[in-house]
Amino acid sequence: MSLEILTEIKEWRRANPRAAYMQIEDEIHKRLMQLEARLIEGAVEQSPSREWGRGSEQEAVLCPKCAAPLQARGKHKHTLQGNGGENVTLSRTYGTCPKCGEGLFPPG
Ligand SMILES: [Zn+2]
Repeated sequence: MSLEILTEIKEWRRANPRAAYMQIEDEIHKRLMQLEARLIEGAVEQSPSREWGRGSEQEAVLCPKCAAPLQARGKHKHTLQGNGGENVTLSRTYGTCPKCGEGLFPPG
C-alpha cells in the first residue's frame, strides 16, 4: 500500500512539474494522512473485540453507567477522527443498555 502511494506521488509530480515546495509537501502530507486512516481501519478491523453480542464468543460489553450488559444492535458505521484529522470509518457493533437506554460503540 505504501508503494502505491510512492507511485501516486511520482505520477502527481510528473503531472505537476511546476509544483512549489509547499504544494509538494501538502500533497505528500495529504496522502500520508489517507494512508494512516486506511492503516488504522485495517488494524482495528482485525481486533477480536469488535465482535460481540449474539452468537459471539466475546463477553457482553457492560454499560459504563449501570454495568448492565449491553444489547447488540447490529453493526453500524462509526466515523472517528484520526490524529491527522483524517476520517477513519469503522464498522462496529452498536449496543444499547436495557436499563438506562444508553447507546454506545464499545471501545476495543
Ligand atoms: Zn445503563
